[in-house]
Amino acid sequence: MKQDYDVIIIGGGLLGCATAYQLAKRKAGKVLLLDANEIASQASSRAACLLTRARTKPALMEMVQETYDCIDEIEHLLGESLELQQCGSVTISSSDASLKELEALEEAAVRFGIPNERIDRRRLKELLPWMEVSAVEEALYMPTDAFIDCALLCSGYARAARSLGAELRSNTKVKAIVAVGDKATEVELADGEKVLAPVVVNAAGSWANLLMRPLGVGLPFTPVRSHFWITGTNLGRFPANHPFTVIPDARAFTRSDVGALIIGLRESECQAFNPDTLTDKLEDFDFNKAAEWKVLDECAPLLQRYLPDIETLGIAHYMAGPSCYVPDAKFIIGQVRPYDGLYAVAGCCGGGVAAGGGMGRLAAELILREEPFVDPAGFAPDRFGAVDPFSVEFQKRCADARSNKKGG
Ligand SMILES: Cc1cc2nc3c(=O)[nH]c(=O)nc-3n(C[C@H](O)[C@H](O)[C@H](O)COP(=O)(O)OP(=O)(O)OC[C@H]3O[C@@H](n4cnc5c(N)ncnc54)[C@H](O)[C@@H]3O)c2cc1C
Repeated sequence: MKQDYDVIIIGGGLLGCATAYQLAKRKAGKVLLLDANEIASQASSRAACLLTRARTKPALMEMVQETYDCIDEIEHLLGESLELQQCGSVTISSSDASLKELEALEEAAVRFGIPNERIDRRRLKELLPWMEVSAVEEALYMPTDAFIDCALLCSGYARAARSLGAELRSNTKVKAIVAVGDKATEVELADGEKVLAPVVVNAAGSWANLLMRPLGVGLPFTPVRSHFWITGTNLGRFPANHPFTVIPDARAFTRSDVGALIIGLRESECQAFNPDTLTDKLEDFDFNKAAEWKVLDECAPLLQRYLPDIETLGIAHYMAGPSCYVPDAKFIIGQVRPYDGLYAVAGCCGGGVAAGGGMGRLAAELILREEPFVDPAGFAPDRFGAVDPFSVEFQKRCADARSNKKGG
């Protein structure tokens, strides 16, 4: 059969672009990436952009480290800065439960060689003058944690992939993945054009299951709402060099940026979205903005003990977007059985900025049958057996994995 490309990637967000970069770097042949919108324009332009290094889940620290390595490589390759901001992070504990989590994180950081130190209230106040430190029992400072503009990182992966020979087409929607028997053979575009390749990678983010349904398989995730609030920039209290914070007892994180404070709050019952209801562009999607104040009512009081004037700070912006959650809160990377040649890189679980480089690397290694740098078993798309991501019950399982999230 005629073959137009060696690999077709559907989706030009962080996961698709990182996969394209990792494949192009490994000289995987002719790689084509297709996106229905502009590259980096969907979930990957809405993140809080935290690159938290220390993690307690298996393989995650290796994946995040791979992202940091990619940033260095891409800056070198493109000869430009991706503007990584190494501001550090502080994880805060005010209870026995969160102290256990802090200790586990500290142990993981030590094991992986991530610089970390416990700091006292005086040092905490120096680092974060806005914080009411009397509410804090323990604080763990990790000076090498950073954040990065997620759209700039995504376009960095894309441009690096292109400079290594990959072809990128934006505003090109895939209508269907075509399989003959149990082999994925081509994709059909919205204008009817057919493009052939022996490997097709579904990295279509929140929309990925819409492409899987006609093939009779479901990827085990659902889009759930993630969001944060941004104060005005005129307060003079939040310079960009402050460490970001993770405050599990308040189910919150904060990050200073251009004079404002970004405040992430996680509600106890997270909202899931049926993929059928998604619009082609997130700009047209209603994330239930009306519920914004309900979430603030529930969550802001938890943060108030650390940020006493939260009620009067003045919120200038609200940002909502989809994160794709899996019941075990682990990514989906690998071959989609029973289809030979069909792969998925999906289910970011709110970590695609931090772990995208590693997710793309694992996908590329599996596609090229190289030795994987982390154990892929925990990320297998079929690890839950057959699932129906369009069912309310399954969406609830996924949303439960996000509800009450405490980490960074
Ligand atoms: C509010 C918020 C805060 C977040 N904060 C963080 C954070 O601090 N740290 C972190 O690591 N992560 C964070 N995330 C998660 C991060 O944004 C995601 O993990 C990441 O953007 C996922 O990338 P993606 O490529 O899967 O999705 P997307 O960026 O949505 O890309 C999918 C692409 O597929 C395209 N597509 C869909 N269907 C088709 C089709 N049929 N044909 C062609 N193209 C198609 C879409 O146009 C889209 O561009 C946050 C997310 C949100 C919403």
